[in-house]
Amino acid sequence: MALHVVRHPLVEDVLVALRDKRTPSADFRRLARRLSLLLVAEATRDLPLADTTVETPLETAPAKRLRERVVAVPVLRAGLGMLDAFLELVPSAQVGYFGLERNEETAVARRYYEKVPKRLEDAIVFLLDPMLATGGSAALAIDGLRGLGARHIRLLSIVAAPEGLAHLEATEPATEIYTAAVDRALNDRKFIVPGLGDFGDRLFGT
Ligand code: URA
Repeated sequence: MALHVVRHPLVEDVLVALRDKRTPSADFRRLARRLSLLLVAEATRDLPLADTTVETPLETAPAKRLRERVVAVPVLRAGLGMLDAFLELVPSAQVGYFGLERNEETAVARRYYEKVPKRLEDAIVFLLDPMLATGGSAALAIDGLRGLGARHIRLLSIVAAPEGLAHLEATEPATEIYTAAVDRALNDRKFIVPGLGDFGDRLFGT
């Protein structure tokens, strides 16, 4: 499994504010978007390009454009906090949705909603799931995407736990993972520590 931990001073600078328990939702949303822009830039660094030309005001110039279809799939609801940044950088992307919820007692995830574009086999699919905790929901989503034909899947998370990474290594070794941080562990409630709390709650003020 390829793990890319995105190291950048701007990533650190935004992470500290995201982790801070005093950060209100309105700021948290802006910060999540800012960090996602950095992650998306890194995770799309090697997207294939096709040659083209462009008419500038002065002449015809050689140019390049994205060659492959790109699909972003935010995992509801926390993944929505990363979608806007994704579409800002890849406006041509199609968007699918996976609704997953985890049982607060068992931390086991189940899929309750799915709406994704057709022909995933031709696309590079970016799964947006900010907290890679046990890895259960990410594995469920990746398995679901594979079941729908996806062959190239990249997972973008903001904070990952070693347990989640190990789970994906065992269950979905072909997945590329991009994250801003690998934290220490999960606590007994399966929250990432030190982490940043419940991403969805902080994003939406619930
Ligand atoms: N989901 C979250 O939002 N936070 C965690 O720490 C773990 C899962």
